[in-house]
This record gives sequence, structure tokens and C-alpha cells, in this order.
Amino acid sequence: MTGSFVTRDGSSWVPKYLTCIDAATCIGCGRCFKVCSREVMHLYGVDEAGGILGICDDEDEDFDGELNRMIMVVDQAGRCIGCGACARVCPKNCQTHLAADKVTA
Ligand code: SF4
Ligand code: SF4
Repeated sequence: MTGSFVTRDGSSWVPKYLTCIDAATCIGCGRCFKVCSREVMHLYGVDEAGGILGICDDEDEDFDGELNRMIMVVDQAGRCIGCGACARVCPKNCQTHLAADKVTA
């Protein structure tokens, strides 16, 4: 994806889109979700084997006792504006961001 991006004052700006989150490293702290204005990612439940159980839209959801932990998943990648706020708050450095001029789809 290519394009010319500028800030309000006309300065050059290259968005860095969130493309994925490392499921093995993410602790599901939710910090990235709280700072994102675009609902790009959501918390998902994971079982003991690392299998995704589903989205955790109810904090009491335990997926019939299968819930082992929660991780953040990039499930709406196309909504990202590449602001970088999520990267600044992640304590585990488990996010991958890609510059807009490197994104192909
Ligand atoms: S880069 Fe910005 S818009 Fe994209 S997921 Fe992170 S906080 Fe949300
Ligand atoms: S801030 Fe980092 S560790 Fe916390 S939920 Fe987001 S990606 Fe996972």
C-alpha cells in the first residue's frame, strides 16, 4: 500500500500499522486496547494447549472451564491508522508494526 501521508502542518508522516501480536509473549494486559481509538485488537481466551477459544467480551467468560489465559489478537487489522500508541504502552514488546509503504494488502 503506497500513499503520501502528512501531518496537519504538512510534515511527512509514515503510519506504522499494527500487523500482529506474538501470542506466546502477550500477557493480555489490555493496555494496547485501552489506548487504541480504532478497535483494531480484542482480548481472546486461550486454552492450555494455546488454542484460541474465542473473544472475551464478557469478563466472566471461562469457556466452560477451558480458559487458561487471555491474549490480545489483531482481528480488525484494516482499521489501524498506524498511530503507534499501542507500541508505546506494551510492556512485553510483542507487537509487530509495518510501515505503510511496506504493507502490500
Ligand atoms: S497503531 Fe494506533 S490505531 Fe493501530 S492498533 Fe495501535 S493504537 Fe490502534
Ligand atoms: S499491551 Fe502488549 S502485552 Fe499487553 S495486551 Fe497488548 S500486546 Fe499484549
